[in-house]
Amino acid sequence: MSNAPLIDNHGRLVNYLRLAVTDRCNLRCFYCMPAKGVRFLKNVELLSLAEQKRMLLIMKQLGVHKIRITGGEPFVYTHIEALFDFIASEIQPQTLHLTTNGVLTGKFLPKFKDWGLKSVNLSLDSTNTATFEQMSRRNDFASVWQTLMQLLDMGIALKLNAVITAGVNDAELIPLALLARDYPLDVRFIEEMPFNGVGAREQSLWWDYKRLKNTLNEALGELTPLPAEPNATAVRFAVEGFKGNIGIIAAFSRTFCGSCNRLRVTANGTLKTCLYDDGVLSVRDLLRQYSDDEIIAQKIRAAVSRRAKDGFEAEKNRLTNPKISESMTLIGG
Ligand code: SAM
Ligand code: SF4
Repeated sequence: MSNAPLIDNHGRLVNYLRLAVTDRCNLRCFYCMPAKGVRFLKNVELLSLAEQKRMLLIMKQLGVHKIRITGGEPFVYTHIEALFDFIASEIQPQTLHLTTNGVLTGKFLPKFKDWGLKSVNLSLDSTNTATFEQMSRRNDFASVWQTLMQLLDMGIALKLNAVITAGVNDAELIPLALLARDYPLDVRFIEEMPFNGVGAREQSLWWDYKRLKNTLNEALGELTPLPAEPNATAVRFAVEGFKGNIGIIAAFSRTFCGSCNRLRVTANGTLKTCLYDDGVLSVRDLLRQYSDDEIIAQKIRAAVSRRAKDGFEAEKNRLTNPKISESMTLIGG
């Protein structure tokens, strides 16, 4: 198999994979899923553990050296431990990351260092039980908070992800930001995206990058821009007296596409070369059809060489749902 790096048709090096290991979740965050009637995939539609492993080995050959495990909720996936063990022993990516809601994370924490997890993104949209429950439709705030404290104790780099939605958790913007004053972590505010599952809600973006930044600026004082990290989605700021930093992710405005190095494989094994496309290749079907990894690698290469320039072009090219309505739980964020 050729070891040439994956370069897309716009000259961007592609070396980061975000794998959604399941579409199931123990929460029902209202910006991600409807309250009821979520159509989860059948087991046969999901990538099996063996298929995930094979796909990861192929990606490794293609020069992917940064991996993020996401979901749905990674810790509702039955084989999550086996998958992390395999990644740690066989894939050994340069960096391994995790996105989790932190509810079921506790019993796995002792393994995080063995797995070589470099950082964890913990989703938290509120600093209080009532708003957390309103947003996630579940009463699990205490578990998430405990996970947050344990991760800090372990010294694992921690980023909190928050989606601020008008009329629901606006009042949480500043209390969440102040967590970066009190603890050495990044608090990142993500613009809401239109991936909330069929029938979840009509969305209109009030808390965009600009409004978030201005409001934070007024409340916290000067936000000092930090140098951009390569391929970063978040624009980061330091605030005087803060132990951590503030980030804003213009996920809806899509200002970061120019340096995008990301591939996504969804829970059903669909390859996305942009968050906003509707899938460019079924890696799952290829894994089931071909025993030769080289054929699959070539098809992934070909898909990367037809990559949309940015999220707007990808959205325009969608064959299904011009109004995007799949749930983020399938895609993984
Ligand atoms: N369940 C895990 C969690 O919540 O961290 C991992 C999967 S979740 C889909 C990944 C990230 O996507 C979370 O940080 C969540 O806040 C974010 N997310 C989900 N739906 C979103 C939406 N419609 N707009 C913006 N971010 C969203
Ligand atoms: Fe579950 Fe994460 Fe979606 Fe919330 S954002 S419903 S925790 S997948």
